Amino acid sequence: MAQRALTHRGKGAVSVAGTKDDAHGEIDLSIVVPIFNEEDNIEALVAELTNALAPTGRRYEILAIDDGSSDGSIDKLRRAAELDPHVHVIRFRRNFGQTAAFTAGFDYSRGEWVVTIDADLQNDPADIPKLLDKAEEGYDIVSGWRVKRQDALIMRKLPSRAANWLIGKVTGVAIHDYGCSLKVYHREVIKNIHLYGELHRFVPAVASSLGIRVAEMPVNHRARTAGVSKYSGFYKTIKRATKVFLDLLTVRFLLSYSTRPIHVFGVLGLLCTLSGIGIGGYLAALKLVYGAQIGERPLLLLSVLLVMVGVQLITMGLLGELMVRTYHESQGKIYSAMFFYQMIFAIAGVLFYAWLMAALPTMTVLGIAGSVLLLCALIDFLLPALIFPIKQKTYL
Ligand code: UDP
Ligand code: MG
Repeated sequence: MAQRALTHRGKGAVSVAGTKDDAHGEIDLSIVVPIFNEEDNIEALVAELTNALAPTGRRYEILAIDDGSSDGSIDKLRRAAELDPHVHVIRFRRNFGQTAAFTAGFDYSRGEWVVTIDADLQNDPADIPKLLDKAEEGYDIVSGWRVKRQDALIMRKLPSRAANWLIGKVTGVAIHDYGCSLKVYHREVIKNIHLYGELHRFVPAVASSLGIRVAEMPVNHRARTAGVSKYSGFYKTIKRATKVFLDLLTVRFLLSYSTRPIHVFGVLGLLCTLSGIGIGGYLAALKLVYGAQIGERPLLLLSVLLVMVGVQLITMGLLGELMVRTYHESQGKIYSAMFFYQMIFAIAGVLFYAWLMAALPTMTVLGIAGSVLLLCALIDFLLPALIFPIKQKTYL
């Protein structure tokens, strides 16, 4: 048995303690388990996984990702890795969250199939062979469905039901239980889908839009017997729900527009520019033909504003195109967070614009000038927002 030393390329580099079989043979199955302060579950987890997997005769590895635990989890994991060569440990320097842990596990997985499962034994390892059999019928992803979910009703099950319904509606891929960690992926899916934020739950939706075959299967779910849930409590529920909702917006946007930003920004930009030029022309005609005073007219400001905003929007569309290209070509990534920022700023800009139009007749020249400045500032925020996530494309 040789010590395996791995370095994680993501944020907060990772060191690994563990062992692996000397034989570099192919592996059928990689089990990816995120672990955050689960010291009392680890022994039972490894035992249950072994009981479920060993009889199947499949060659497997258990990749335990210690997500910056502060309890004795890492010692328990090291011990497990010493006792059982199937167990490998990846350690984060600090807590990066479940999705980051999955991503790291995916990166190091060698199996033809990759299975994700929670460490707290709420998912039942005995379901893994069933899910695999289903996958081998010809699916690329088989997602667990916790039919009898053992979690609090108000804080966990209801929000989750609402989320599943909404995700189904928005992405057009109706799965009962997006949040279930127990899932089987074919290695090709894993190696091509990169995860950010809480996006792991959207993998089936994104995958299905790419023509990947997704199946769903009822699985056992048990109450937690040791350790505490990392997501319960009012504040954490709200925080998680917000993230999931924002990620859903991102996914929706990416599924529809990600490849052609110019189609979104360019059209808006052209509309603005053309109406600005129209209004400007009208004012110029008033001045030149009728000798009217136009210096005091709010319409003049509006015209300038429209042209400026329009040009900026078009520029942004072009920049977006460039980035999409660079991004896709250099990384082969399927989605990133940048469009989300774009979209938020664009929506804010449009709302602001609508408000400006409504308020215009009653505003003073000073008010209008202030608003114009504000709008320009808002739009200019968009550029850093575009560039920022590009630099952030590590495991987040
Ligand atoms: N987890 C993690 N990092 C985190 C939070 C959770 O790796 O920041 C792991 C945790 O150890 C468990 C799994 O993710 O294995 C699911 O967490 P938990 O059981 O607390 O969530 P719940 O079942 O309550 O949704
Ligand atoms: Mg749990």
